[in-house]
Amino acid sequence: MASADVVVVFDFDQTIIEWDSDRWVITKLGAADAFQRLRPTMRWNPLMDRMMAELHARGKTAEDIRECLRSAPLDAHVVSAITAASALGCDLKVVSDANTFFIETVLDHHGVLGCFSEIITNPARVDADGRLRISPFHDSESAPHGCSLCPENMCKGKIIERIQATASAKKQHFIYIGDGKGDYCPSLKLGEGDYVMPKENYPLWNLICSNKQLLKAEVHPWNSSKELETTLLKLVNKLISPPAQAPQLDYKCEMSNPVSTEVGHSQALPVPH
Ligand SMILES: [Mg+2]
Ligand SMILES: [Zn+2]
Repeated sequence: MASADVVVVFDFDQTIIEWDSDRWVITKLGAADAFQRLRPTMRWNPLMDRMMAELHARGKTAEDIRECLRSAPLDAHVVSAITAASALGCDLKVVSDANTFFIETVLDHHGVLGCFSEIITNPARVDADGRLRISPFHDSESAPHGCSLCPENMCKGKIIERIQATASAKKQHFIYIGDGKGDYCPSLKLGEGDYVMPKENYPLWNLICSNKQLLKAEVHPWNSSKELETTLLKLVNKLISPPAQAPQLDYKCEMSNPVSTEVGHSQALPVPH
């Protein structure tokens, strides 16, 4: 199997990065008070757009937000997992409920943005006033996704179905890595021959454990960045290793004892006439 047939889909928050990028920016730039006040009354995605307005009103620029994101750590094991899977020819994608501005800033700062073929997330842009605007991936009014498992701005399951539907995806194997509740719907969309890598003891893992029969994909949990790396590369190598190994073994067996094989054959299958 060519390695291009392996699609690795990463969640971002608490998967690629060990922290939550929204909370990092809000806390580090001093807007935790407004977040606490507004959280009970707003859904997450519009709340993040509102928090960017709060930061703008407090004199924080888009460049301040970028600097703040650059100051956050990315574990070396995750960086090497990404670069190794990319070097092995896997098609890497991010599917995240963060936003383009945050994700691209972090991945670019650590030199791995070019390893990904797609970043599928909520769109972000800096408007004419210099304020960062975050929009929903799915517009709940013009095009509701209709999935009851997912927040109304994003159904990651619908995104996985779209990737699966592309012509070349029919024979592709998926490895999905995530931690959150929003990663459960896409995990249910995977089939036999695919893998889910849930972060142990996080919501995705707990949902999978609540009824393992619902998943067709094989489950491989991880509990540290180091384990994410070793587990991912083990699965990738399993999927891309050449299928010639088994016939080679058979050949060796035959050659090691050709006479008894021939005798055994003639005894077991007498000539029928
Ligand atoms: Mg996450
Ligand atoms: Zn969904």
